[in-house]
Amino acid sequence: MKLLLLPPRPAVPPPCYAPRRRTRRRASPSMASLSTHHYPLAERPLRYAVLGAGFAGLSVAWHLLRHSPEKLHLRIDIYDESGIGGGASGIAGGLLHPYSPKVKLLWRGAECWKECLKLLNIAERVVDKRNSNSQNVELEWNLDESIIRRRGILRPAMDAKHLGILTNNAQNCLPFCKIESIDKDAAEALVPNIKVPFNSVFHMPEAVNIHPLCYLQALFLACQDLVEEMSTSSFGGKELYMHKKSIDRLSDFEGEYDAVIVCLGAKADLLPELSGRLPLRTCRGVIAHLQLPDNVGETYPDHSPSILSDAWLAVQGPRDILVGSTWEWKSRNYSSGVSAEEASTALKQLLPKASAIYPKIKDWSFVGAKAGIRAMPPLTSFGSLPILGRIDDLVVGNHSCKYWFFGGLGARGLLYHGLLGKLVAQAVLFNDETLLPVELTSWKR
Ligand SMILES: Cc1cc2nc3c(=O)[nH]c(=O)nc-3n(C[C@H](O)[C@H](O)[C@H](O)COP(=O)(O)OP(=O)(O)OC[C@H]3O[C@@H](n4cnc5c(N)ncnc54)[C@H](O)[C@@H]3O)c2cc1C
Repeated sequence: MKLLLLPPRPAVPPPCYAPRRRTRRRASPSMASLSTHHYPLAERPLRYAVLGAGFAGLSVAWHLLRHSPEKLHLRIDIYDESGIGGGASGIAGGLLHPYSPKVKLLWRGAECWKECLKLLNIAERVVDKRNSNSQNVELEWNLDESIIRRRGILRPAMDAKHLGILTNNAQNCLPFCKIESIDKDAAEALVPNIKVPFNSVFHMPEAVNIHPLCYLQALFLACQDLVEEMSTSSFGGKELYMHKKSIDRLSDFEGEYDAVIVCLGAKADLLPELSGRLPLRTCRGVIAHLQLPDNVGETYPDHSPSILSDAWLAVQGPRDILVGSTWEWKSRNYSSGVSAEEASTALKQLLPKASAIYPKIKDWSFVGAKAGIRAMPPLTSFGSLPILGRIDDLVVGNHSCKYWFFGGLGARGLLYHGLLGKLVAQAVLFNDETLLPVELTSWKR
């Protein structure tokens, strides 16, 4: 898809940004609150820099636009050295459900699930809209490919103890993301040739697996559409720019922006201001792409769900499957490319695990691999939760600009990015860190 990316620009936009003509109006309470904190000069647009165009960055950008008052003149600059989805988000397996591997409901799972589905709907609507009109000609991405690749995920129980834990946890499932316990026959009807070691499989019919890159690109288009829509109102006006550019240090933004939101994933730790100061560990994961050769007649049926076990199978199509993922802790290899040696090591780990639940995987051929780094947060009593908050004290300067951090999405970035992007955007707009859940800001203490 051809995104309308701006050409490379200097580190920060010129300080003197052309003001729009504005009519003085009595501010609504929410506007007044924003004005007090952020917006002393009526002629200057409020300027936010969002660093990173993965799940975190694009969710924040969307929610900043969506939740800012209509009358506010707002400019958002998104910076990413690799473009949209250039980090872990672009290569993720795309499995989405609100449960842990033991099907326990995750922290604020209901809200996270709902907010993520909202963003998915927004992205899907953009695709439908572009498909139905002539804007399609601008795009390189094949819009016939849907964002949601498969509905439903199966989680087999591997032994008696595992079955007990899963059964117990599944009782607290959400009514709008059910977990049904099914037997071997029912599982085989869903996925022919699935191996069910303990005659019990947990089926999440509403869970999905998506194509992360298509989703992110569509979400960016949705941001652009929202800007266009909001800019036709008689007040304010919204602007959104995407800069394909590497960020060297946060202090470069001082004086140019009202707020900078750092959403750089595992690479946030490479910035001099943040290096060694975030409680995050890196964990590289390799995903293998397998295809069914043309001479094999029996494909993976269209109605069959993806599978989640010691390895997962994220179904992309009847002859396309992603198998993941490896866990290499403390890796500093940030490349998404995978060498032949690394791919071979990954396959040795992944294929026996995949075969334990889907023996037919032996008929599939390896066609490629990709990798990404997860930014793993510390374990708390609520589980491994992302980390958020103001980080001004880590950046030297007079702090006319406010710095925020949104990261540590671990292995569940897709689930968390919707709700947390919304909360971060609201906290930024109101310059109020207390709008963020204390569980996610307590890392700073
Ligand atoms: C193998 C693997 C499989 C996964 N599968 C799933 C899954 O199925 N479901 C799920 O929910 N989660 C999954 N995850 C986790 C998920 O991918 C992450 O939680 C999520 O992508 C983190 O999003 P982010 O926006 O914080 O970071 P990222 O997606 O890494 O985004 C950060 C962005 O910042 C940019 N950037 C970094 N440094 C700089 C710099 N200095 N200057 C400019 N730009 C910079 C990068 O290019 C990148 O685009 C998986 C992760 C891996 C590694």
